[in-house]
Amino acid sequence: MAESGSRGIGRVGVIGAGQMGNGIAHVAAAAGLPVVLVDVNAAALDKARATVAKNMDRQVAKGGLTAAEKDAALARIETGTGMQRLADCDIVIEAATEREEVKLSIFRDVCSVLKKEAILASNTSSIPITRLAAATDRPDRFIGMHFMNPVPVMKLVEVIRGIATSEETFEAVASLAWKLGKITAVAQDYPAFIVNRILVPMINEAVQTLQEGVGDIRSIDAAMKLGANHPMGPLELADFIGLDTCLAIMRVLHEGMGDSKYRPSPLLVKYVEAGWLGRKTGRGFYDYSQEPPAPTR
Ligand code: NAD
Repeated sequence: MAESGSRGIGRVGVIGAGQMGNGIAHVAAAAGLPVVLVDVNAAALDKARATVAKNMDRQVAKGGLTAAEKDAALARIETGTGMQRLADCDIVIEAATEREEVKLSIFRDVCSVLKKEAILASNTSSIPITRLAAATDRPDRFIGMHFMNPVPVMKLVEVIRGIATSEETFEAVASLAWKLGKITAVAQDYPAFIVNRILVPMINEAVQTLQEGVGDIRSIDAAMKLGANHPMGPLELADFIGLDTCLAIMRVLHEGMGDSKYRPSPLLVKYVEAGWLGRKTGRGFYDYSQEPPAPTR
C-alpha cells in the first residue's frame, strides 16, 4: 500500500501491556512515534518494558536496529496505570483482555479523557467493531486494528471498519499501519474477521481431536507441521496465542454465527478453567517449566 502521509498521527496510546500491547508499543516506538502504554497492573507494565528491551536487543543482534536506535525507541515509551496519560494521544489502540465488559469499561473511561478528534482502535480478535463503537462517543472515529502475534515479527494488520467508521479514520489507520512497517488486509465486520475465523476453528478442532484420542499432543502438532507444512503445530500455536483468547474467540464465533460447528471444545474449556492458559502462565498443552517443553497429556 502506498503511504499517503502520516495524517496527523503523532502520539500513540496503547491500553493493555500484555503480549500484544507490548508489541504494539515496540513497533510504534521503533517507528519514531512517542508511545503511552497503560495497564491496570503495574507489574504488567514493568514486564512489558523488559520484554520490549529484550526483543529490541534481539533486533540489534540481527542488525535490524542500532543500539542507539534501541535506546531512543525505549525512551519514547512512557508507562502508567492511569487513563489520564492518554489525553494527548492522536490514536489509542486498546489491547486489553479479550472480554467485552473489560473493553467497554475501558472505552467509557478513556473517552472521557481523549481529545475530541482522537481515533480509538481496538486490537480485538473477534468482538464486533460496530458493537464496540456504538458504546463510545465516537463511532466514526472507531476502528478495528488487529495486529498479529508476535507484533514486531508478523507483517499483517487486519483493518476492520465498523458500520459508522469514517473514510478519514480508515485512511489514517491504514497510513499508520504502513508507517509501522505492516501490510494491511481489509476485513468486513463479521465475527472473528478473516484470520481468526479460519485459524481458531482449526485450533479448536485440534483440541477436539486430542480430546477424542485420535492423536496425542505430539502427534497432532507433528502431523500439521510435517503434513500440512505449518510452521507451528495447532496446539503449540494455541499455547502461544493464549488458551483464554482462543476460547473467547470460539465463543464469539459460536454466538455470532449461531452455528453449532463453532462449539468450543470441552477440553479447551477445561484447560482455561484450570488456569492453564499456555505460554503466558507457563503451562497449557505443553509445560514450559522444562526444556524442551513437555506435553501435559
Ligand atoms: P494478555 O492477557 O497478554 O494481556 C492483556 C493485558 O490487559 C494484561 O496486561 C491486563 O492487565 C490488561 N488489562 C486488563 N484489564 C485492563 C483494564 N481495564 N485497563 C488496562 N489494562 C487492562 O492478552 P493479549 O494476548 O495481549 O491480548 C490482548 C488483546 O489482543 C485481546 O483483545 C486479544 O484478543 C487481542 N489479540 C491477541 C492475539 C494473541 O495472539 N494473543 C493476537 C491478536 C490480537
